[in-house]
Amino acid sequence: MPPLKVLIMDDYGPDFNRIAKALRPFGLALMWTESLNDGLNLLAQAKPVMLLVGEKLQGLKDPVDLLGVIQAKRLPTQLVVMSPEPNFDRAMDWVAEGVFSVISTPVPVDRLRRITQRILDNLSLYQELVLSEARAERPADLFIYKSLAGHAEIKPLLETICDTAMSLTGAGRAHAWTGTDLGQSVPINVCKGDVEILGEFEKIVDFHWMGRHLASLKMVFADRKTEMALNKPILEELVFAGSLFLSHAVRLDEAMMLASKDPLTGLANRRVFLETLNREFFQSRRHDSPLSLLTLDLDYFKDVNDTHGHQTGDEILKWLSGVISAVVRLGDLPARTGGEEFSILLPRTNLEQAAILAQRLKEALAETPLPENCPVKVRPTISQGLASLEHFLVNAPQDLIYWSDQAMYLAKREGRDTIRQVTELSGANHYQDVQYVFQ
Ligand code: GH3
Ligand code: MG
Ligand code: MG
Repeated sequence: MPPLKVLIMDDYGPDFNRIAKALRPFGLALMWTESLNDGLNLLAQAKPVMLLVGEKLQGLKDPVDLLGVIQAKRLPTQLVVMSPEPNFDRAMDWVAEGVFSVISTPVPVDRLRRITQRILDNLSLYQELVLSEARAERPADLFIYKSLAGHAEIKPLLETICDTAMSLTGAGRAHAWTGTDLGQSVPINVCKGDVEILGEFEKIVDFHWMGRHLASLKMVFADRKTEMALNKPILEELVFAGSLFLSHAVRLDEAMMLASKDPLTGLANRRVFLETLNREFFQSRRHDSPLSLLTLDLDYFKDVNDTHGHQTGDEILKWLSGVISAVVRLGDLPARTGGEEFSILLPRTNLEQAAILAQRLKEALAETPLPENCPVKVRPTISQGLASLEHFLVNAPQDLIYWSDQAMYLAKREGRDTIRQVTELSGANHYQDVQYVFQ
């Protein structure tokens, strides 16, 4: 910060040295002029915190006239009048008008120091007051909190942060993306505003909470002028409020994630599977889009547990989940729906395409090495059953589960380590035979 300034307007030279000596401990920058006109120019430009003016300065009718200049230009300046013949009544009049103090000449060093100290104390008190009032009552802060409150999820919150940033800073475009410390599988990235604005003038801020990088925000400005006009305190408040609200959204997101995952395998649990199945079923039907379900179950898994213990059984379940995750595409939903039973929901996939995936999974299992130090000698296999929305027996979400289960049991009956489809179930090919299938 540059030093605060003091302007001395006086044509009595010898006093300057005394004043300089008196003010030296404060680290102020002193300016001296003997001309009223120069003084008036300096006053407006330098915005000193104190103006020491000689009562007898040539051209100055009444020192109080300077108060008019200070007030008109909204300067932070306190006026101190130096008087060779101080008169109590006159001094009281000046002070009543707004003069800070009156001091005799030659200037007494101690008195001038006390006056200066008081001016500086008042100044810092005033600055603190302005800052604290601004923090509590600035309409922009209220706007920030009102805008951000009520968004429990990360993405809508990031979008609101972009909108809020644009209206507060004058940025023409804003991007926000999730931070590096969030363990999401798919990072969130949002953009608001005018995409035509080139990214020459921009500012990036980061949102942190408890040492975690939650998100970043980039504001793009149409020109350097708006970028320069950026209101830093308001931006700081946006970053603080944004971090606070984001920390809540992130915690909620992580809690949801924990509640939706199977802890052993990390795959989606049964609840998420059923919810997603329900949603995808009706969406696929509305958009006439294919939807398939693959149900699979480990063969003779009881033997693994009985021979090598539950811990080894758990290792195999994790190994199988890893292979499943590697084989499916983005958008497919693999889930652990039972002990050693898994389901893979396949949106935008018909029965024929689902059969290709089932075959790929079978081959991957045959090729993927078992976990290190795994005592299991016989490579585990799975039985798979497939059903699809396109089949006339599938009229509700539960039908997909039922028929893919039936197909899986057919695979078990027919020797295991194999794949069966709803179309291969006896009687499931003709509408007239439905009664028979249900028996
Ligand atoms: P099949 O080929 O007919 O499916 O034979 P199976 O032995 O796999 O079938 P069964 O239903 O008789 O046995 C399932 C076994 O899966 C029994 C149960 O102990 C085991 N299992 C279920 N959940 C877990 C688990 O979380 N960890 C372990 N280690 N084993 C589990
Ligand atoms: Mg089994
Ligand atoms: Mg089973």
